[in-house]
Order: sequence, then structure tokens, then C-alpha cells
Amino acid sequence: MKRRQRRDGQKEPYPFGFWLSCPIASLFLLDVPFRYACVGKPRTQTGPSQERVWGLLLRWVLDISCLIEKFRGETMNKKITRGKLTVITGTMFSGKTDELIRRIKRLREYGGRKVIVFKPSIDTRSQRGFIESADGNKMAAHEIETDKPEKMLRILGRTRHFNVAAMDEVQFFSAASNLHLVVSEICAAGYDVIAAGLDLDFRGEPFGSTPLLMALADGIDRRDAAHCGRCKKPARLPQRLIRGKPAAYHAPLIRVGGKETYEVRCYKCHELPGKPSL
Ligand SMILES: [Zn+2]
Repeated sequence: MKRRQRRDGQKEPYPFGFWLSCPIASLFLLDVPFRYACVGKPRTQTGPSQERVWGLLLRWVLDISCLIEKFRGETMNKKITRGKLTVITGTMFSGKTDELIRRIKRLREYGGRKVIVFKPSIDTRSQRGFIESADGNKMAAHEIETDKPEKMLRILGRTRHFNVAAMDEVQFFSAASNLHLVVSEICAAGYDVIAAGLDLDFRGEPFGSTPLLMALADGIDRRDAAHCGRCKKPARLPQRLIRGKPAAYHAPLIRVGGKETYEVRCYKCHELPGKPSL
């Protein structure tokens, strides 16, 4: 039976009908030699009668069905072990997406894990249906609307054969979107989760769902190997620039852009006109 290739390179799982048809197909295949062996034998003759053979076959089919159910049950029980959440965070151009792609490749190639990748559909900087790092590394991904993170649960429930969920640009999911609750559910279902996202917005304040995921994380990979665009010292604040000028504090929180719109600044060089005093 040929399984369809999914967009992210994984194959579709066998449908339940396939597993159901296995014992039935075996029954018909085995029927031919058994009928052949039993034809013309009188009831009084020692040896199995046709009814006896059919009875044995049916019991065999039921045994196989029970085994399949047991196997499926054990597979599901294995998933009850809570998965681990790892958050890759840091400022812009610090290599978060590169690290995410590197981890996914290693898990797929050396870990034998099946990884599904998600990205917010609002992220138009990278190609549609792909996550893409600032260095141009790409990987296919399912797009999720930022107000419907629960769609990930539906996709995972439908496909079922993955064991790791990776997601990029998680800061675009606002705190109110409840992404952290969805991720918690995904971990509770036994999937490991790797989430990558900016920790601070252009105002230097905690950004979207990233801080909430960091609070829930089993491990955090901070990547602050960025340098100030002005003084070249170590830096971690995204500076939004509109035609070369710093954006005002009350500008919209989300503005998707690359090196033409953002640079990294240190606390000393970061500019934020209109910032209200406490
Ligand atoms: Zn600086």
C-alpha cells in the first residue's frame, strides 16, 4: 500500500481500515489451501472438518485483532509520558532559526524521530509554507494562524505518527492566544516540543508567548551572540528603524521585517522616542 508523501517529507500513517483489512485478507488467502485440504473428506475421517478449520481461522483472526489493538494501546500508552519543552530564544539575527533547523535535522537523521514543523502564517518574511533563517536555511512547515494555535492539536491528532513538534517565531502568538496552554497539552500528549522565538520586542519588553513558554520550559537555549549595530558591543535589544529613524514607543507591536527594518542594539544605544516614564 503506497502512502502519500506529506509536504514536510514525512509519510501519511496507514489508515485504520488498512489494519482491519489485514486479518480479513489473510483469512481469504488461507481459505484456499484449507479448502483444498478438506475437500472430499468424510466427517468420520480423523482430521479437522471444514467447520473446525473455519472456527480455528476465526479464532486466529480474533487473536490477531486483539494483538493489533494491544499494540495500538501500548503505542498510545507510551505517549502518556510527558514530552519535554525546549525554548530557543534570543534577539534578532542571533541564529535561533538556524539552531532550530539544525536540531530538527539531527533529530530526523540521527535520532530517528518524526518531527512536525509549525510557523505562524503572519510571518511573511520567509517563503509561504517554510521556515527560513536569516542565513537562508529553509525547512517546510505547517502554517498556523496566530489566533488559532489549537489548530496544531488538530493536525497532530489527525496525523498521529509524529513524536516531536517544532515551532518557529512563537513571539507572534500573543499571550492572549493561549499558545502556552496548547504547547502544554502537546507535551502532556507525549510529544517533545522545541519552540524558537524572540524574547524581547522592539520596546525591549517581553514579547508575546515566548516568556510564557520559557516559564514552562524544561530547557532554555539562550542565544545572545549578537552585537550592537552602532557600538559593536554585545547587545540584545531589537531596534526598529523606519527609514533609518527609530520607531516610536506606541508604534504597532508587530511589524514583520528583516535587516532593512531591524538591527540589534545594546541598552546604551537603543532608542525609543515617546517612551512613557513610570
Ligand atoms: Zn551599542
